[in-house]
Amino acid sequence: MNAQPALFVPHGSPMFALNPGAAGAALRALAGRLTRPRVIVVVSPHWETLMPTVGAATTLPTIYDFSGFDRRLYELSYPATGCPAAALEVADALRAARLPVALDATRGLDHGAWVPLRHMFPDADIPVVPLSIQYQEGPIFAHAVGRALFPLLQRGFLIVGSGNITHNLSDWHTAMQRGGIDADYAQRFSDWVENRLEAQAIDDLLDYRRAQFDGVRAHPRDEHLLPLLTALGAGGPGAKATAFHRGLSEFVLAMDGYVFQPRERL
Ligand code: ZN
Repeated sequence: MNAQPALFVPHGSPMFALNPGAAGAALRALAGRLTRPRVIVVVSPHWETLMPTVGAATTLPTIYDFSGFDRRLYELSYPATGCPAAALEVADALRAARLPVALDATRGLDHGAWVPLRHMFPDADIPVVPLSIQYQEGPIFAHAVGRALFPLLQRGFLIVGSGNITHNLSDWHTAMQRGGIDADYAQRFSDWVENRLEAQAIDDLLDYRRAQFDGVRAHPRDEHLLPLLTALGAGGPGAKATAFHRGLSEFVLAMDGYVFQPRERL
């Protein structure tokens, strides 16, 4: 069985679907380098639940969870199938780590899931299992969910956390209206995250709001960083983190993406 890495991918604003730019090209190139996975588990911050919930539907509706954007977005879809059997394997892995888990037989793919997957695997021919986040449980819990998923890599599961390394929507709206704001903090924070990932300084990352001065501004609410911590955990102990893309979009959204290559020979 082909062992997979864990990934953190950016999704930016919904317009990323229409304007892939350099980040979209990097996602496409990355997918081209991967051994074909058996199934993709995608963790999006746009699906929040009280406990980890695994999407077990056979068909996955494309969810247009945004408004006020270009009408062409509603003409896009991502018709990947689900995989109830793989969803049960994900649920079992979470239970084995003594985490609570629920199944959802109807959930489809929100834009945090389908936009980056559409850039990576445009044929939509690999089954996808969505997995929710738990905002109220915080960073340590998000990391623990990822650690529970680590054994799935050797069974051909590609674990994909989707979010943004900086995500301050108030600053984003200001930047859209004024044509740009001082985004030094976004650059500083994303530099710090890369440094801490390369140093495998997991405790710093789990405590980022205190460990780095810009953390709270970069994430007034930390749901868009939680999938990074899940991907970090899913890479397993000592996983090697490598950025496959770095850059700011729309002044304030860091579109950085990472590969977490497991250290242990699988
Ligand atoms: Zn988002």
